[in-house]
Amino acid sequence: MSQYADARRHLEQKLHQLTNRVANIEEDLRIKPSADSEDRATELENDEVLQQLGQGSLAEVTQIREALARLDAGTYGTCSTCGGTIGTARLAAMPGATTCLNCAL
Ligand SMILES: [Zn+2]
Repeated sequence: MSQYADARRHLEQKLHQLTNRVANIEEDLRIKPSADSEDRATELENDEVLQQLGQGSLAEVTQIREALARLDAGTYGTCSTCGGTIGTARLAAMPGATTCLNCAL
């Protein structure tokens, strides 16, 4: 049960960081564009960057939530393709990995 305690702690920390980041991004995106056209162009560029960042973070949040769900279900660390064990090195590098290295290749 405690085999993946470190992984869970990492995932929960990361999830916390990401949800904070996404919340901040959403906050920034809500700020109204200014009337000045030059400022506005810069703000639109920033918004695009923020939106991309936000989408990347959201995808990561989904991945982490799924990994935590697998931890709860006791299927964490099991390859979803071959049913084998996912190596701990791989999980350390990619805590959200759902397949073993062989199946990922
Ligand atoms: Zn596999």
